Amino acid sequence: MKRLVLVGGGHAHVHVLAALAARPFAATQVTLVSPYSRQIYSGMLPGWISGYYAIEDCALSLDSLTRRAGVNFVQTSCSGLDLKAGQVCCANGKAIPFDYASIDAGPAANLAGLDGAMEHALPVRPIEGFVAAWPGLLEKARNHTGEFTLVIVGDGAAALELAFAMQTRFTAEGLSHARLTLVGGNPQALAGFPYLLRRKAAKLLAEQGIAHLGKRRVIGLQPDHLLLEDGSRIAADATLLATGAAAPGWPAASGLATDDAGFIRVDPLLQSVSHPFVFAAGDVAAYADPRPKSGVFAVRAGPPLAENLRAVCQGQALKPWQPQRRALYLLSTGRKHALAAWGGFSTSGAWVWRWKDGIDKRFIAQFGS
Ligand SMILES: Cc1cc2nc3c(=O)[nH]c(=O)nc-3n(C[C@H](O)[C@H](O)[C@H](O)COP(=O)(O)OP(=O)(O)OC[C@H]3O[C@@H](n4cnc5c(N)ncnc54)[C@H](O)[C@@H]3O)c2cc1C
Repeated sequence: MKRLVLVGGGHAHVHVLAALAARPFAATQVTLVSPYSRQIYSGMLPGWISGYYAIEDCALSLDSLTRRAGVNFVQTSCSGLDLKAGQVCCANGKAIPFDYASIDAGPAANLAGLDGAMEHALPVRPIEGFVAAWPGLLEKARNHTGEFTLVIVGDGAAALELAFAMQTRFTAEGLSHARLTLVGGNPQALAGFPYLLRRKAAKLLAEQGIAHLGKRRVIGLQPDHLLLEDGSRIAADATLLATGAAAPGWPAASGLATDDAGFIRVDPLLQSVSHPFVFAAGDVAAYADPRPKSGVFAVRAGPPLAENLRAVCQGQALKPWQPQRRALYLLSTGRKHALAAWGGFSTSGAWVWRWKDGIDKRFIAQFGS
């Protein structure tokens, strides 16, 4: 009997659980370690903030997925791997022995160089932490007398989607005293996206009254303001951090080979380049042929990961995976409108939002409750 431990219930691992439910791996005992009993689908998070979805609409039940797959579910965080003993070390003190481990535990919040971030700002990751805190933040905005300034640090796709979603919610609730400001290091938001999409996003930000302060580097957070590298300050009643993906510290600390940023280096078989009995996929992995940290690539890694885990547990040959070169990005801009980008091509409209809504709902439905 082989022992396989899945660390994290991320986008690739939900596919592994579905594959196990459809066809169990022969003579393999599988365990999932995850701190929460559900997996929030981040693509639908802006729609939840806007008020279009209930949080249950955006969540996959890891309880149900593991039950259907005949997988043991240990609800705790992995704090490291003992690679010599072959054990997953858990925050609850347990050590779970394995022959093979697979890691899809996602990224951590990127708080580097942000003094006071933990005390005075709300990071969007872990997403469950954000989901727990958002109703309180909204309540603060509702009860605030005078202008309420919410600053979002970040100028990438997640930061913009959050800003548009929050603005939509503030408008729907008549909170005209709420002001949103995005602060980012780039001259224009959405660096790396096609020029026309960036221009459209800038126009939408302006139309919706969301300020964007580019070419700014935030270095510190205080209860009522942000401190910038140039010594200036930005007043804030609340600060949200959407500063991108950082690697969790424990993979490198466990001795797994990582890239310079701490993400687990894997080969095209999705095996760790230093410890082939450990697999990794999703944002926590550094692929041989690097790709942006994005849910699209985490989802796409699911089927090849499932097949290679099945193969390794059953003593069969593994197959290499080449991530697609391009990904379709659908970014909601509030008010049931969205932008789309595919390589250098971009478009936008209410129809793009309906398209995204359909894709997202089908993703959730695929893994059923
Ligand atoms: C607001 C927002 C909107 C986004 N929208 C999009 C989008 O529209 N399209 C897109 O492609 N990308 C989007 N992204 C990016 C996307 O969320 C990530 O790229 C994606 O979640 C990565 O998937 P993953 O499986 O690697 O990790 P995750 O989805 O983060 O899953 C990791 C899982 O592991 C668990 N876990 C974490 N730490 C541990 C631990 N120590 N031990 C055990 N389990 C652990 C977590 O609880 C979670 O269940 C968005 C991000 C944000 C913040």
